[in-house]
Amino acid sequence: MFLALGVKDTYTLTERGLMSETNQVPFKKIIWRNIIFFVVTTFLGIVGGAIYLFTHGLSISELLLFAFFTLATPLSITMGYHRLFAHMSYKANPIVQFLFLFFGAAAFQQSALKWASQHRVHHQFVDTERDPYSIKKGFFYAHIGWLMFWYHPVDYKNVGDLKRNFLIRNQHEYYPLWAIGAGILTPLLIGALTGHLLGALLFAVCARITLVYHGTFCINSVCHMFGKATYDIYSTAKDHWLAALITFGEGYHNYHHHFPIDYRNGVRWYHWDPTKWLITILAWMGLATDLKTISKYKILAARLRAKHQSVEDVLKGIEEHPKLELLREKVKAHYEHLKNTLAEWEHHAVEYQSAIRGKMESSKEKVYETRRRFKQGLKEWQALSSQILQFAKA
Ligand SMILES: [Zn+2]
Ligand SMILES: [Zn+2]
Repeated sequence: MFLALGVKDTYTLTERGLMSETNQVPFKKIIWRNIIFFVVTTFLGIVGGAIYLFTHGLSISELLLFAFFTLATPLSITMGYHRLFAHMSYKANPIVQFLFLFFGAAAFQQSALKWASQHRVHHQFVDTERDPYSIKKGFFYAHIGWLMFWYHPVDYKNVGDLKRNFLIRNQHEYYPLWAIGAGILTPLLIGALTGHLLGALLFAVCARITLVYHGTFCINSVCHMFGKATYDIYSTAKDHWLAALITFGEGYHNYHHHFPIDYRNGVRWYHWDPTKWLITILAWMGLATDLKTISKYKILAARLRAKHQSVEDVLKGIEEHPKLELLREKVKAHYEHLKNTLAEWEHHAVEYQSAIRGKMESSKEKVYETRRRFKQGLKEWQALSSQILQFAKA
């Protein structure tokens, strides 16, 4: 599937087959092509790489080539395949798009069109039978098993927007050429020119492919298992800084599933999200535009709603408590008050912004006043909710 050199799911612009396969759930099938590819690259990259290190050492040029491909290929997946093509969370210059498609193909994670189609299905049907890499089928399945033992029919109907892009179409139609050219021949050519052909094969091709694979795979496995559900408590997608560290910022996955249109996954300034920072740099350079973000008020509202749901769930589980009704009333009143203050704060802030733009009398005081009230209410809410949540743990 990852290599997919032709066969079943090959898409042609004229036939656009497989539409009839919509709604099909994957069936068990050993995908030998993928298994062989995984085994060969992993073995050569790890065992071959270790022997080479021991016998030859590693030159600076080999190290640089390996480092370059280990950064360029996963970033083309996160910045390009994921946030640009699958979610359209910003627009990019065609040269940038080409680079994403080139180094994205080098990652051997299928064409951008197929990747985006499956990823959109993942978001739409997360944790259900139709989720291509559902964590409900276990860690191994979500991580790599879905590529080894299951056949996934792809319905390209959900990527009609991407099919209109010539570069994406071309990369899809000639994917084997793109993947082999970018992911194998290019590093080998550079290796040959610098006198390190074998080193390039073992490190910049095999070890790098293995490393990048497991980094990407962690998004479907680790990020759906470990961490906090900050925005949607019922989703398996989780936020975890450590997962973000190994996935170039994709580890804030609960946020991402809740607000997939945001070009950021880590929304706070200190959240480790190099993908977001690089997209911002592209925008400063004029190479990316229309960066979509969710307003901080909507984000706060979602966090409050999630916390409220957790508290409500705990309260529902309590059968007998002398002050249960009183507690329920208190939670309800606090939450409603906080929601209203937040809406008021947003209203004044928006009004203030338009006042600045129109150089009219501003209402700065009202913004500060409602923000102060919101923060005060938030403190009380946090104390109340953690008291209730602690009670559930006791
Ligand atoms: Zn996910
Ligand atoms: Zn996504």
